[in-house]
Amino acid sequence: MTVDQGLRDLIYALALKYAIKYGGKTSTKSLVGKIIAIRPDVRSKVREIIPEIERIVKEVNEMTLEEQKTLLEKYAEMLPEEKPKEEKKGLPPLSGADVGKVRMRFAPGPSGPLHIGHSRAVVLNDEYVKMYKGKFILRLEDTNPKNVLPEAYEMIKEDVSWLGAKWHEFYIQSDRMQIYYEHARKLLEMGKAYICTEDPEVWRKKKVHGGKIPERELPPEDQLEKWEKMLDGDYKPGEAVFVVKTDLNHPNPAVRDFVGFRIVEEPHPRIGDKYRVYPTYNFAVAIDDHLMGITHVLRGKDHLVNTMRQEYIYEHFGWEKPYFYHYGLVSMENVILKTTVIKEGIKKGEFIGWDDPRLGTLRALAKRGISPEALRKYWIDVGLKEVDIKFSWDILYAYNRELIDRKANRYFFVWDPIKVRIKGTGRYEAKIPKHPNDLSRGYRVRTVELPTEVYISRDDWESIKEGELFRLKDLFNVKRVKDYLEYAGNDLSIIKRGSKIIHWICGEGIKTVVYKTDGSIVGGICEPEVLESVGKVVQFERFGYCRIERLPDGTVVGYFAHS
Ligand code: GLU
Repeated sequence: MTVDQGLRDLIYALALKYAIKYGGKTSTKSLVGKIIAIRPDVRSKVREIIPEIERIVKEVNEMTLEEQKTLLEKYAEMLPEEKPKEEKKGLPPLSGADVGKVRMRFAPGPSGPLHIGHSRAVVLNDEYVKMYKGKFILRLEDTNPKNVLPEAYEMIKEDVSWLGAKWHEFYIQSDRMQIYYEHARKLLEMGKAYICTEDPEVWRKKKVHGGKIPERELPPEDQLEKWEKMLDGDYKPGEAVFVVKTDLNHPNPAVRDFVGFRIVEEPHPRIGDKYRVYPTYNFAVAIDDHLMGITHVLRGKDHLVNTMRQEYIYEHFGWEKPYFYHYGLVSMENVILKTTVIKEGIKKGEFIGWDDPRLGTLRALAKRGISPEALRKYWIDVGLKEVDIKFSWDILYAYNRELIDRKANRYFFVWDPIKVRIKGTGRYEAKIPKHPNDLSRGYRVRTVELPTEVYISRDDWESIKEGELFRLKDLFNVKRVKDYLEYAGNDLSIIKRGSKIIHWICGEGIKTVVYKTDGSIVGGICEPEVLESVGKVVQFERFGYCRIERLPDGTVVGYFAHS
């Protein structure tokens, strides 16, 4: 059997692909099966093509990894489209979860838009609700007027939608104040709560070290009277609190009697000064989780003590408890998450907004072109694990790369550009695919007539020695002579011998600024076709993936996702 061009190209493509996959080397043995899988017609004549496979394997193994990668771009179209692997690691089942009956909630406080940390709870709740065909409840917990950012109500909805979760029911706690008051009264009537007017510090010490709390023992009539006084404004903030009784001998002093309501005189950013007594998180969350029929609560380990407190409310009312799950904490490096810091930074003009690429908000990730699917995949992998983990940007970026690489067109971005003269004669055409694996997306076509000038990055220019031969990607080879370049033919084999391949722009290019996650800004020029990708992610070759926007003055802005 003769090895035709198509078969030879396929062997090259496979040899390169698997050499790259395994660090630069492949073998004839490992390739044979893969060739037959794509070309079943060679099965019976495989012996005849072995020498050719061996020759190609030897040639590929002698290349550097960089050369292999460059060459693979040329052969990649020989490879059949790979079906994305359905590798569902899947979440473990939940206890007591019946299909159609599961009700779960995501309950953030509207102090700012959501950040990566929140996205874990959104994804896990949403995944389980989908798994059990249940209901997803979005509840905004805004009973601390001091910690409410009015814009956050809408921003959170947008963020949850961006993550691909759909809520079936939506609640805002500040609409439910009367419900909390009713339950407060009931607890007082049952003798399960009391109004405490003691000095907070004295009260706290008594809980920790023991000591009589006389108000705790007063009858319900007295408690209700003081409660009404609280509501009527007879006490100032801090002078009286509503306390839920637990067990004063509980081994953890933090669980012994906890505050269920306090007086806050600042107007609420959403409902104004209608109320002056607000439930604490622990009170409101327990009442709502019960009334909303929540069957499973997923939350971080940092809420363990809160769960213990909330369980007392369930017990006082004789309610069935939901299943509680506490997952491990996630520490994050190299990112700004704190709402107060961000708010301050925006005010001072240090950040461009809640979506500044330095921030860990979901809107910052969206701006950079990190896809919600990548984040979802990340959190499904981590699942409900109880161990604390360090967030891995590398893994998130690897997932994102997998998702966006096929969609992202490729372009040249010449950062820190310098203009260099090329001497020579003739007219040359570069026809560069917008995506090497999807030629249907078209090409960037450049006609270069020598002599001319091109832009290249200063870094590249400075790394090239006098007399060095290198390639202008997809155009031709050049040699550096003093402070100019000289046309040097089109022999591709220089790549195999390790010559550099650099990107370039002829003509004016478009002014470009790229914002990176460390706050640095990289300036340069890009190819005009980038404008076709405004709002989308592109791959700036040899630089990284960026999401593209355009300023009114025409400047292209790239928000750097990752390399
Ligand atoms: N609002 C709480 C938070 O964001 C909800 C936590 C929970 O009860 O699961 O931390």
